[in-house]
Amino acid sequence: MVARDPVNIIGAGPAGLIAAIVLRKHGFQVRVFEMSQDVGHRLNGDFQGLENWSSQTDIVELLKSIGIEINFPCAPYYKGIIYAPGMKPVETASDKPVFYLVKRGSMPGTLDVGLKEQAQETGVEILVNHRRDIHPGPAIVGTGPKGADVIAVGMTFETSMEDMAVVALDDDIAPKGYAYLLVNQGYGTMATVLYREFRKSGEYFRKMARFFEARMKMDIRNEKRFGGFGNFFLRDTQVRNGKLYVGESAGFQDCLWGFGMRYSILSGYLAAKSFIDGSDYDELWKRELKPMLETSMINRYLFEKFGDFGYRYMARKLLVSDPCGFLMKHYNHSFMKHLFLHIARRSYVNKVKDESCNHENCACVWCTCERESLAAH
Ligand SMILES: Cc1cc2nc3c(=O)[nH]c(=O)nc-3n(C[C@H](O)[C@H](O)[C@H](O)COP(=O)(O)OP(=O)(O)OC[C@H]3O[C@@H](n4cnc5c(N)ncnc54)[C@H](O)[C@@H]3O)c2cc1C
Repeated sequence: MVARDPVNIIGAGPAGLIAAIVLRKHGFQVRVFEMSQDVGHRLNGDFQGLENWSSQTDIVELLKSIGIEINFPCAPYYKGIIYAPGMKPVETASDKPVFYLVKRGSMPGTLDVGLKEQAQETGVEILVNHRRDIHPGPAIVGTGPKGADVIAVGMTFETSMEDMAVVALDDDIAPKGYAYLLVNQGYGTMATVLYREFRKSGEYFRKMARFFEARMKMDIRNEKRFGGFGNFFLRDTQVRNGKLYVGESAGFQDCLWGFGMRYSILSGYLAAKSFIDGSDYDELWKRELKPMLETSMINRYLFEKFGDFGYRYMARKLLVSDPCGFLMKHYNHSFMKHLFLHIARRSYVNKVKDESCNHENCACVWCTCERESLAAH
């Protein structure tokens, strides 16, 4: 029998690791190149939400169905509090989990370490401190965001507060974004997510902290500050020179609110599937991800246009309807919304530039060679 060459994966984020685990479980040799000294290095022990509203399929069931074990704390949240300008706080609740809370970073108990351990247990080779900017052969590229369309600044902390999820839609503390406070089992995260005025992030961080301090009985110990960014854009192909782009390096992000993990998980799985059964990766992601991606871009455009009016509308709807049902409707394709696609696409042209690329026989893993022409479509 002829031994197959290993599949090379660049980037050990959720997208790369999901692809690695799925491929390995189907008998492939897999090698993952990670530029940092460990997985989850760009994240800081902060809580993130695995959203559970954009699809009928529960995200935990989806993970299990593709062969991923839940070997990391993953807490379902059924309810939350929403603040919108000029309104009393709104409490929203659902019969099914609205999201699952996971921790991100290099420490034990994070999604990243859980996936790394599973990958290693199945026999995936993970090479840390291995940055790959040029990779001549085929590969799966999951190198994460390369430009900032959105930034988050926040803190993690220890606390005696009860478990909760609180969201504030208010341009005074998070321009065109939102602020959040998440507490689980004596540990908390709060952050402001900005789509504008990045230079004033310190000011918005302080305003966000004051906002929650004025409304919740805060208990903050051992606080640790963090920051991060996200990148979203639409491309017409995610296959170049034998490389399949997954996760945020492909612009796969929820443009509205930055819930990118579901996109990373799905795209990592789809890229693996393409290696396993030879199916066309472009066809796969266009069927499974593109409608959601386009809708999220339109949602972002409308969210920014409607401002306070839109924030209040959303809070009211979340009060009177099932949050998962309401959000599912808005996260999925609708004919009326689709009419805004062209204008929304023009508003969010990708910022990523690779000045070092000569654009000839390009083997760089994330440059924009083909993207400028594609943005015009
Ligand atoms: C503060 C913050 C809060 C967030 N909150 C949420 C949330 O609540 N819910 C949600 O769904 N999403 C959230 N996100 C987004 C989510 O974290 C990302 O969408 C997701 O991690 C993207 O996964 P990925 O695998 O594509 O990339 P990443 O997780 O960024 O992983 C990419 C990996 O590739 C490595 N790498 C990069 N370049 C190279 C190279 N050249 N060679 C080798 N390795 C390389 C990096 O070191 C990294 O380990 C948040 C993001 C931030 C920053």
